[in-house]
Amino acid sequence: MTDRMQVFQERLQRELEETQARIAQLRERLETKADYGPGRGDPAIYQWEFNLALLERAEAQMREVRAALARLENGTYGMCQKCGRPIDDERLEFLPLAAYCIRCAQPPKKAGRL
Ligand SMILES: [Zn+2]
Repeated sequence: MTDRMQVFQERLQRELEETQARIAQLRERLETKADYGPGRGDPAIYQWEFNLALLERAEAQMREVRAALARLENGTYGMCQKCGRPIDDERLEFLPLAAYCIRCAQPPKKAGRL
């Protein structure tokens, strides 16, 4: 593994640990489920649902970090998973989880122009 890849691995490993800590914290908060009383609009319920949304996002993030680490393991990190071309360094620095090059990550152009 090159030094550069080592740097990414450390960065991703740290991110994985942080994400796992965040997930554990959110799960703990979610266990103390607010009493769903008859009164609607209880701020505790909103808070609970907000935490649930955060948890879902954190879990998705963890899957992405794990996938990126797996790509580092098998040597495909930094390559577009779609077209196989290398992903721009700048893009990887900014988005270490990027699995696609900028071209493939772009949404397909809408048919028909104005
Ligand atoms: Zn691509």
